Amino acid sequence: MNLRDSNLAKLPDRVFDALIIGGGINGAVAAAALSGKGASVALIDQRDFAGFTSQQSSNLAWGGIKYLESGDYGLVRKLCLSRNHLIDSYPSRVQEIRFFTTIDKGFRFSPWFLWIGTWVYWLFGNGYTRIPRLMSKGQIRHEEPVVNTSKAAGGFEYSDAYLHDNDSRFVFQFVRAAMDRGTIAANYVESLGSRREEIGREEMGTERDKDAIWITEARDTLSGETFQIRSKILINAAGPFADGLNQRNGEQTAHQHLFSKGIHLIVPQITPQQHILTFFADDGRLFFVIPMGVRTCIGTTDTPVASPFTEVTDEDRDFVLENINKRLELAKPLTRADIIAERCGVRPLVVQRTSNATSDAAEGARDWMQLSRKHAIDVDSARAHLSIFGGKLTDCVNVGNEVAEIATQLGVTLPHPHYRWYGEPHRSVYQEYMHQARLMDLDSYTSPDSIEPLSSRLWRRYDQQAFELLAQIREDPRQAEVLIKGTDYTRCEIQLAKRQEMIVTLEDFLRRRSKIALVVPRQTIQQAEGLMEACEILFGDQAQARYDEYFCEDCGVTPAQSRQTTDETEPQGAA
Ligand SMILES: Cc1cc2nc3c(=O)[nH]c(=O)nc-3n(C[C@H](O)[C@H](O)[C@H](O)COP(=O)(O)OP(=O)(O)OC[C@H]3O[C@@H](n4cnc5c(N)ncnc54)[C@H](O)[C@@H]3O)c2cc1C
Repeated sequence: MNLRDSNLAKLPDRVFDALIIGGGINGAVAAAALSGKGASVALIDQRDFAGFTSQQSSNLAWGGIKYLESGDYGLVRKLCLSRNHLIDSYPSRVQEIRFFTTIDKGFRFSPWFLWIGTWVYWLFGNGYTRIPRLMSKGQIRHEEPVVNTSKAAGGFEYSDAYLHDNDSRFVFQFVRAAMDRGTIAANYVESLGSRREEIGREEMGTERDKDAIWITEARDTLSGETFQIRSKILINAAGPFADGLNQRNGEQTAHQHLFSKGIHLIVPQITPQQHILTFFADDGRLFFVIPMGVRTCIGTTDTPVASPFTEVTDEDRDFVLENINKRLELAKPLTRADIIAERCGVRPLVVQRTSNATSDAAEGARDWMQLSRKHAIDVDSARAHLSIFGGKLTDCVNVGNEVAEIATQLGVTLPHPHYRWYGEPHRSVYQEYMHQARLMDLDSYTSPDSIEPLSSRLWRRYDQQAFELLAQIREDPRQAEVLIKGTDYTRCEIQLAKRQEMIVTLEDFLRRRSKIALVVPRQTIQQAEGLMEACEILFGDQAQARYDEYFCEDCGVTPAQSRQTTDETEPQGAA
């Protein structure tokens, strides 16, 4: 029985302490924190884990320097500390990176003024990162010839952090950690709605004669089968769908979401330098050129929208391309033909619920840029219900800790309240891994196409589980061979993914567990030698079907989209 089937069979089994609906970053950290501290947890997502907003971010763990301008000092301070904590806790996954910023002449602030701002920012982060640096136009030209300095007034460099692999991989690692600590998680399982019901003392495991629990009607979107999941508390981590789900479950909340659409374009590598080129776009917003392995990711935009379902329009593409072409000196300007992949999502922004919040936003009555990127957790103590609104990847450890604290207040017993549920394994474990890797000369197996040694890549992606991979390679060196040509995925990794990573569709693997679909053109992937063998490992006798489903040109839909969920068939909630 595979991992998903085994978990599906366990979901209706017992009364869980908590059921979490939504496996984006907020749901994933909630599951990791609660199960790490000893609660029994179920986690479901109607798509793949990180299959919605959490796969569309800019991949930054950052203190939100731009919120200094809106005076949101408390948020900046909190995010800077969260960023530091992530860099500290995930040395291989979250890394400091320099933001190489160029300021045009006539911009609303001078480079000098902004440079002073970066010092304030640096102090907000307790001076944890490298210090900011002021740069003249000549220095910018000398250090980064790809920047067009013809209209530049000067610039500066400061530090924040980025997710080395990818947002969706980062999220999945929390789901994996949660499963390692007992969470029963399943992707492609949808909540159809939840209700409160009274049950007797034995089932609930409390002293009281009767207590109420949540009964959630769930549907396996692959088989169509429905079943019930019972839990003491219910956590709505449905991101942009949180309002709709609350409405369905009869939950009243103080907050609600508004949506801001953002897109990124992935293009051939613009600069080999490992820094983020930073500009202010024509609309005055910060605009990034972010390294993504052998590619470059450019973005983003910030447009108010009413629905969470968005797509990249030609207008979006042209906005990004025009802005970047103006600010770079490329041998040939970037065109739509250079786009390798696109990312598009909505930021779920938290606002106080008012009767006309949605129409206010639509009419532009709110200052869009001033909307805070903080998170809020609304608690309905009487019904043992939590709703997580807003937030950022950067803030994920705080969200996990807050959820655990609230769960205790709602009566969930956490036998290990001080357990550190996040972070890479202790340094000594890493040193032992590297020692074993050196002894077997692991890096000699590194693919010539790879931009980093195999030892560090395997550690970052699998940490503790990388020991298992070393053992397999020692036993059979063929396991270290790159299986899908043009990528750096080895045979033993695909086998591990099959056992441990709950991959249901080819897109789950190509787009989220790995970032192959973001950095390799679709046609190249389709023809890649070894892809069918990888499909055979991942899907067995369903290999051809999963391959056809992914590359089905006529349908023009991705597998995940082809599985209709009630969110797509019912009207949206508040936003
Ligand atoms: C363009 C853009 C750039 C961004 N850049 C950054 C950045 O650089 N750094 C940063 O920290 N943050 C960034 N963010 C913000 C961050 O990505 C989001 O705040 C975060 O991913 C939201 O996570 P979530 O878990 O709330 O929502 P989601 O990731 O959307 O997760 C919610 C999940 O709930 C599931 N779900 C919904 N309804 C149901 C149901 N009925 N049953 C079962 N499952 C259900 C969905 O399928 C979904 O997977 C960015 C966001 C965008 C859009």
